[in-house]
Amino acid sequence: MPPDRRFATGRLPAVVLLLCLAGLVIPVADSGRSVHAAQDAAAPAGQEDQRPKGETLGEDQRQKAAADAEAKAAEEVVEEEKGFVRGSGGGLAILPAAVWWLLVLLWAGTTNWAAADRSKLPTFGHFWLPLLTGPFFAVAILAWWLPWSFVALPLLAITWLGPLLPYARLRDAKVGVDDRVLSLHHVSKSAAGMLRRVGIKLPEGEKKPGFALPDLALAGVFEDPSIDSKALAAEAKAMPGFAPFRELLQWAVSARARQVVLEMGETGTKVRQRVDGAWQPSKRPVAVREKMKRVEKWQESAPITPEATTAMMEAVKTLCLPARKSGKSSRSGKFIATVDRKQVPGRLSLESTPAGKRMVIELDQPDPTFPTLAALGMDEAAAGRVARALVLENGLVVVSAPSGEGLTTTFTQVVLATDRLLRDIVLIEDAASPLKEIQNVKPFRYGGDDAATPLATLEKAMLAYPTGIAVPDLRDGELAVELASRAAEMLVIVGIRANDSIDAIEKLISLGMPREPLARVLQASVSQRLVRKLCQGCAQEFPATPELLAKFHRPAEPAATLKRAAADGCGVCSGHGFMGRTAAFEVAGGPTVSKGILVKADARTMQKAAAKDGTVRIKDAGVAMAFAGTTSLEELQRVFKKEPQG
Ligand SMILES: [Zn+2]
Repeated sequence: MPPDRRFATGRLPAVVLLLCLAGLVIPVADSGRSVHAAQDAAAPAGQEDQRPKGETLGEDQRQKAAADAEAKAAEEVVEEEKGFVRGSGGGLAILPAAVWWLLVLLWAGTTNWAAADRSKLPTFGHFWLPLLTGPFFAVAILAWWLPWSFVALPLLAITWLGPLLPYARLRDAKVGVDDRVLSLHHVSKSAAGMLRRVGIKLPEGEKKPGFALPDLALAGVFEDPSIDSKALAAEAKAMPGFAPFRELLQWAVSARARQVVLEMGETGTKVRQRVDGAWQPSKRPVAVREKMKRVEKWQESAPITPEATTAMMEAVKTLCLPARKSGKSSRSGKFIATVDRKQVPGRLSLESTPAGKRMVIELDQPDPTFPTLAALGMDEAAAGRVARALVLENGLVVVSAPSGEGLTTTFTQVVLATDRLLRDIVLIEDAASPLKEIQNVKPFRYGGDDAATPLATLEKAMLAYPTGIAVPDLRDGELAVELASRAAEMLVIVGIRANDSIDAIEKLISLGMPREPLARVLQASVSQRLVRKLCQGCAQEFPATPELLAKFHRPAEPAATLKRAAADGCGVCSGHGFMGRTAAFEVAGGPTVSKGILVKADARTMQKAAAKDGTVRIKDAGVAMAFAGTTSLEELQRVFKKEPQG
């Protein structure tokens, strides 16, 4: 999470700039005034002024001996003046000037809060901002002209703090605990931020909820160009339900949720979100007293009241839902959430279900990228097997995962791992769901405007004389048959939805791929499952019992430990106990597996055959991850319990 950016949007008011300019100009003008005063008074002693006016001053200095009593009196006035304003070189003046600047900077920083408030608390912000700026501005300028710095500077401080303290008090009563200013936490965080800026790093503590909440702005996206989305966004913003909706999205983004569902019941609205592929209740930090200490616990957020839900819906409809088309039971719209200056496209739909209404929000947060297969979680042995298959001149490499389990990511990673700079690889993909561009891989799309079949698209691609073919989502029988024969001449990589590496082979056969060429060309069947990683900030370690070790065929190590997710989670993982995902892999393929394909062995026999060829089963790869402390046994249970994909 980026550092606190709550106030980043509140532009420093133009007044501050003006004042800073005034701060630069006035001292110059003022020293000039002192010089003039000095000249008028036949000049004070000990001045070395290099400005043009100073030349005449130099002459005046030489005339100092001729100064009469009247001039001395005037000189005293000037000397006195030099004590508080920056005169033409007096040492005493530096300190008051520095204090003046410090006050102005502090004031600018705190006034920025109010400027940012104008978007969050419009009426409040608009009322307070002039009170916080106007008087200070006047007194700051006046301070240069007042003859006593011991009066001017305290007065300036009073003008700064006078309105600021009641403002902060009233404001903090209106906003959430974590959004407060001048609280102990806020002050310590700000101080840490300042130290960081000058290169001093303090050890990072837990992610505090208020300070992790990203800055987020919303605007609807409409296909109809006559709709003014800006005006609608402004209108929505003024509605009472807007701020809670925005906050809901802030929490969702902060928890890295891709989907948020609001289930509206009679007693209230429950919020669930999908994080790292798992649905969970939306959680909030709650301060509780435990053993005389205040601690933060992440608890399921209370349902939103029906009244608040209605208000929220009104704001949402204004923001991004165009008028309902007649005869449709659902409404959907698009929006852009600008999160810390990055744009996150979002979709939102209102549906009526038998259980009641629900709102589904999808956030297109960017996918994490992985530099290598090892970074995806593949162990060295498996990565080595895949790498050896990918350098062959011909052969078939199958990449598989169940639906929604990151097949695209792994497939792309496998294609990237080929020597694609030397090989000409063509990509045969569905025009409806194209892959992100892969450098040096030429895409050919089927099912687009010309409704070309996958096979026709492959034939067209073959005219480019490729030395490799990649098909990210193989579902077409004709294409499967053709690919089996092409794999005898060149490298063919296919992606297919399947539960494991053996299931993937069976899927190829059921698509119509003949067993004989398949057994000959199959080099590797790579299967993958996404597994959530434990949050290392809050995972709880416990000793692995001898029974557990025996169950998972682990050596009887007395010091072996496992980890489980903390029920309450922590600030780092937004209370979920997990943080990010990795993948468990299995790579099958070898002489025994090929023999199994030819003799039509059943799945169980095929798995034994794979083991004989050195395949570590995907579940065992997962268990190894659990014993390494990366994930928990409960998570493995969740991942492998999933319904088999049809
Ligand atoms: Zn945690």
